[in-house]
Amino acid sequence: MRYDYLIVGSGLFGSVFAHEMNKIGKKCLIIEKRNTIGGNIYTEKTEGINVHKYGAHIFHTSNEDIWNYVNQFIKFNRFTNSPIANYKGKLYNLPFNMNTFYGLWGVKTPEEAKKIIEDEKAEYETKNPSNLEEQAINLVGPTIYEILIKGYTEKQWGKPCTQLPSFIIKRLPVRFTFDNNYFNDLYQGIPIGGYTQLIEKLLEDIEVKTNEDYFENKEKWDNIADKILFTGMIDQFFDYCYGELEYRGLNFETEIKDTSNYQGNAVVNYTEAEIPYTRIIEHKHFENSDSEKTIITHEYSKTWKKGDEAYYPVNDDKNSELYSKYEDLSKNYPNILFGGRLGMYKYMNMDEVIKEALQLVEKEK
Ligand code: FAD
Ligand code: UDP
Repeated sequence: MRYDYLIVGSGLFGSVFAHEMNKIGKKCLIIEKRNTIGGNIYTEKTEGINVHKYGAHIFHTSNEDIWNYVNQFIKFNRFTNSPIANYKGKLYNLPFNMNTFYGLWGVKTPEEAKKIIEDEKAEYETKNPSNLEEQAINLVGPTIYEILIKGYTEKQWGKPCTQLPSFIIKRLPVRFTFDNNYFNDLYQGIPIGGYTQLIEKLLEDIEVKTNEDYFENKEKWDNIADKILFTGMIDQFFDYCYGELEYRGLNFETEIKDTSNYQGNAVVNYTEAEIPYTRIIEHKHFENSDSEKTIITHEYSKTWKKGDEAYYPVNDDKNSELYSKYEDLSKNYPNILFGGRLGMYKYMNMDEVIKEALQLVEKEK
């Protein structure tokens, strides 16, 4: 059996690509090394709760085309992400807003909050911030940096903030309103019934083989299709010929609790360095499940090593330089396309992944 495209990986990138190519009559086969589809957005129903098996996923975008695109397949609820930070037992609202400033300093007006932050910044500001620590202090001052950023970020990335690129922290909004919405985007929500249903809709007419690792049968797969879309790790594809790119790994510890409400919020971040996990997710709050039980997941970040699942690319200068070597090399293989977070080595949210996949479809057309 010959295919037009072999797609390695059933994550969001591979699934959108397969769906669109199939629509224009291209024959696609997806192989997936896990026993589940959807990559990291896979959700599984347990005790009436859709469990985000690979970490909390909140869909958010300001791109109307992408919002309309996903809404063709599934309805979204109106979930708004408003995580809580727990630092040494005290709770603060995220992202940094008037509720946070009230919790920290008791200030009740934007003027009072601005004054404290401006005074703190005046003392510590750096002209041209060259790392995450300097950037964060310039943004919110040293108190918020110490309590809500430093410990969390160093656990998440396994490096001191002075060695991390500043773009990571630009993602967090700072507001002088009482608004706990973590995102500034126009559209936000969770697919009602879970993300797996979105993937199932995308793959309705596509042949998918799970438990198939491309590398275990490379020769067979290389000869089954005219073109390959590879959404795994690009350095692994080239047998790490220029060396290993750096990734972050994760561990998830999930448990069912015999209570209906464990922490009162979907996401609670633990921002102090001494607590080993970064956050606790309580899955039922994504969709207001009325289950009598609850399911929680402790998320731990860890150093990635060969053989582990790679979750986050580390887009600092050193790794970006190494990635460009792999990207250049890939140009010698016009019948192999690279896509997704691991194939493009890019820290992308779901909306960006869909946009990139649709752009690749246009190119292929
Ligand atoms: P993946 O989902 O990684 O899919 C790649 C697939 O390829 C996997 O299923 C993998 O098993 C398979 N594969 C790899 N190698 C092989 C091989 N050799 N053979 C066969 N199969 C292979 N985005 C948001 O927009 N909002 C969020 O709230 C959000 N939260 C996140 C939280 C966490 C903890 C993480 C890790 C990511 C989060 N993201 C979030 C990002 C989101 O997960 C990604 O944008 C999206 O899932 C990437 O899709 P993908 O197809 O590129 O990759
Ligand atoms: N961050 C932080 N404190 C928090 C939450 C996030 O300092 O309580 C920082 C951290 O550096 C993190 C970045 O903000 O890597 C982006 O956070 P986000 O929650 O957007 O990341 P993701 O969901 O992709 O892990």
